Amino acid sequence: MPQSAANEFAPAAPPPAGAGGASASTLVQLEGKKRPVGRAASFFLIFVICAICGLQFAYRSGARQSQLDESRRATVNIARATAEHAERTVDIVSSVLFGVVERAEVDGTGPSNFPRLHALLKARVAQTRGLLGIFVYDEQGRWVITSLDQVEPGANNADRPYFKYHQTHTDRGLHIGVPVRSRSSGLWILPVSRRINHPDGSFAGVVLATIRTDYFQHYYNGFDIGKAGGIFIALDDGTLIARRPMLTDVTGSSLKGGAVFTLVDQGHDSGTVMRVALVDQVERLYSFRRVRGYPLVIAASLAKQEIYAQWWIDTWRQCGALAVLLATLGWLGARLFRQISLRDRLEVELRNSRAALEDSVGKLELIATTDALTGLKNRRYLDERLAGELARAARDALPVALIMLDVDFFKRYNDTYGHPAGDACLKLVSDVVARAAQRGADVAARFGGEEFVVFLANTNLDGARAVAEGICAAVRALQAPHRGSDFGIVTISAGVVAGVPVQGDGGGSLIEAADAALYAAKRQGRDRVSPPPPPPADSAPAVPRPACAEA
Ligand code: GH3
Ligand code: MG
Ligand code: MG
Repeated sequence: MPQSAANEFAPAAPPPAGAGGASASTLVQLEGKKRPVGRAASFFLIFVICAICGLQFAYRSGARQSQLDESRRATVNIARATAEHAERTVDIVSSVLFGVVERAEVDGTGPSNFPRLHALLKARVAQTRGLLGIFVYDEQGRWVITSLDQVEPGANNADRPYFKYHQTHTDRGLHIGVPVRSRSSGLWILPVSRRINHPDGSFAGVVLATIRTDYFQHYYNGFDIGKAGGIFIALDDGTLIARRPMLTDVTGSSLKGGAVFTLVDQGHDSGTVMRVALVDQVERLYSFRRVRGYPLVIAASLAKQEIYAQWWIDTWRQCGALAVLLATLGWLGARLFRQISLRDRLEVELRNSRAALEDSVGKLELIATTDALTGLKNRRYLDERLAGELARAARDALPVALIMLDVDFFKRYNDTYGHPAGDACLKLVSDVVARAAQRGADVAARFGGEEFVVFLANTNLDGARAVAEGICAAVRALQAPHRGSDFGIVTISAGVVAGVPVQGDGGGSLIEAADAALYAAKRQGRDRVSPPPPPPADSAPAVPRPACAEA
């Protein structure tokens, strides 16, 4: 057999442990990964719930603000309309008074003018809505002439604040007094008056027009301001003239310190404010404005409770629907999480089962390929490896070597020391043999009985002989006593063959050749390696012919 040069030896990859399929590789991939599906799904669900709640909150907040804005516009518009109404009313009364004052000053209020003046006053009262009466007083406050058909004899209004005002003030402008109960009708009236002068400018009396305060109230009743809404007109010093709803004995009371007059006193001509009312402790949205040209203030208000009443109904309805939606979502989410966690548990169990199975298969494979006594590979494993290694070596044209080893005089050892001691001796020798198979592709196996095989890949005859010599020397070096041996110690003999196999070579012929070489070593005296073969005559033989044989 030709000896090929020592080549770099590439160890063959051992066969995969167990069959691997697509599902197995998928599981292996999943092994090191975290499973974020459940957590991601729960985050997503929480996000969706928060987003829905957030949107709903934003939507309802917007609706609440819209409702407030709408109510603000409504109260502003009512305040503007009622202020214009008050302005118009006082304008008309003012022009009536202007005419009467002029007539009184020019024509005088003597008995000759009485019928004409009385008719004029009656006509003006009849024509002017809200006007209850017109009264002319002389400088002592006596009733000179009125729009009434009958005048109480001796009636005198010199004690009234408006009379005293004109008595002490020379201005000719319109004076609006504090509301009082009329002496003639008993109704609450707003006194509006002007001063009458003598030709020399001295005080000649007062012309008074009385406006029914309930005239304003009736006008305010025409507005839709809910059950708890309100409208009031007051003097700019806070004295209440009329109010809707009307409460008993509030006319003439002061609104100072209330929501509206706090702002009026700060100099505001108009504005809107949400406050608790002094009169009835109801929280309202007030819009107020001063009446142009007159010391009057008008305010319209809507109760907060009524402003948001519809908003609350809508909010409760929508929150109810949302609660049902979120409960359904939560229920579905919980089911989903259960499914995911169940799947995760199954997956973990599957992985664990697979790991246990692979472990068992590995152990079984180890048991199936290992010799129980020595721990070396067994004959079955050797046969399988030899077939693969020889085919590979043939393909790559690389040499392989096989060493067959046999313990010398072992039958006698058993006979001398007993079978268990023989087993222990075999274990000792096998450890030496195992150390000879250093490289990954090398195989040390128990061939049977007290025989061992060492297969060396990519090794020529010289290399293999050196390994065999090393084994023999190592066994010898054990100095294990063997009284039955010719050498007195345990020894071993080795048959070595090596060469480049050809395709189709099986391990059987190589083993036969190695066995023959071993026989040669035995015959030569044991405790040695088989002699090298004689040099070839002409051409190189190939395996399975042994590379070296019996000398
Ligand atoms: P030689 O030097 O020619 O090899 O002689 P030998 O006595 O070693 O060879 P032989 O084939 O005559 O005897 C081998 C003995 O090995 C026979 C058998 O009892 C013993 N043997 C085989 N397997 C085992 C084993 O597992 N344990 C023990 N203790 N002995 C074994
Ligand atoms: Mg034997
Ligand atoms: Mg033997």
